[in-house]
Amino acid sequence: MVYVLNKDGKPLIPTNRHGKVKHLLKEGKAKVVKRTPFTIQLLYSTTEFVQPITLGVDAGSKIIGLSATTEDEELFSSEVVLRNDIVELLSTKRQNRRTRRNRLRYRKPRFLNRVKAKNKGWLAPSIRHKIDSHLKVIANIYKILPISNLIIETASFDIQKIKNPQISGTDYQEGEQLGFWNVREYVMWRDGHECQHCHGKSKDNVLNVHHKISRKTGGDSPGNLVTLCETCHSLHHQGKLTLKITKNKSYRDAAFMGIMRWAVYNKLKEIYPNVTMTYGYITKNNRITNGIEKTHTADAFCIAGNLKAKRSSVIYLQAFKRRHNRQIHKANFLKGGKKKLNQSPYMVKGFRLFDKVLFQEQECFIFGRRATGYFDLRKLDGTVIHKSASVKSIKLLEKKSTLLIERQVA
Ligand SMILES: [Zn+2]
Repeated sequence: MVYVLNKDGKPLIPTNRHGKVKHLLKEGKAKVVKRTPFTIQLLYSTTEFVQPITLGVDAGSKIIGLSATTEDEELFSSEVVLRNDIVELLSTKRQNRRTRRNRLRYRKPRFLNRVKAKNKGWLAPSIRHKIDSHLKVIANIYKILPISNLIIETASFDIQKIKNPQISGTDYQEGEQLGFWNVREYVMWRDGHECQHCHGKSKDNVLNVHHKISRKTGGDSPGNLVTLCETCHSLHHQGKLTLKITKNKSYRDAAFMGIMRWAVYNKLKEIYPNVTMTYGYITKNNRITNGIEKTHTADAFCIAGNLKAKRSSVIYLQAFKRRHNRQIHKANFLKGGKKKLNQSPYMVKGFRLFDKVLFQEQECFIFGRRATGYFDLRKLDGTVIHKSASVKSIKLLEKKSTLLIERQVA
């Protein structure tokens, strides 16, 4: 898939016609604007062919799944790994600063000079990073594809619908069956995704939702449901096990929705038209009834809702990395309280950490460098390409950035 921008930089429907792209580039009728994903810009005016494209977003605190589809075809598929080092770095920084302050006797105590953590709208840096990362990767897709709708999964179940099953207008359309999937997801969450009889002792990871009193008399209300592992569940139904279950907790409230996912959804609504949300139980139902595998990109594909579309064979793996390697984040003291010097300089023989390079026809990233000019080369998922490749054997493809991207063919 080659992504195409028009003369003014507006995205068009991408193309599979590589021969034509090659020809356009050769004739000077187009230019390459991006290597990964491969994007060209036309240098002549065109008439636009519009086709609705839906972007599905599987929001997450560790991994984001993205999938852009038309009714017939998946045009972009990506998995994004977020940074998880922020909390740790900030605690190290805090500790180091505290140690230093204690060494300096003349230093005045800090007083009322901090960001007010209780301010409305204040979010922890780690959560802020996660929100910004969602917005950034989504914005990047809008730059290369004419997205018409965006659908984001904000939570795994709809608590409002469980609390007030009668007020929901969509219930009627969704049917009773899908409504039960919602309650099921809620019950599993409430029970901490753990068998409420054996609490994991059976080592059975398959979870069922059990009706305490038969469905016919007790119904599908959360109070009548409990999470059991398949082992305990089937033993109970065979009459070989009497369940020992403590009373259910009441509804845990909206906090579970995750501040992060909601903030992402609200920001997206401010930026783009046609943003809607969906729930995990609907995604899961779509995925299972259509026999689709469980991955973040597959979930995003199901969220986008064009379930008959042909899946893409290319997945773009993306990862956020830190921009700086600050001294303040390090706690490496040598004997005698001397601080270790910052390891490698920013540039080693013209290469930075996380530059994308070509080594023996393979695209990979610099994960480590030695001043002597030898490099630790890896794929984005950490697969080692070479532990100590010479500077002479590598060629720079893309300079490092805070967001690294790699094309993977399934
Ligand atoms: Zn069990």
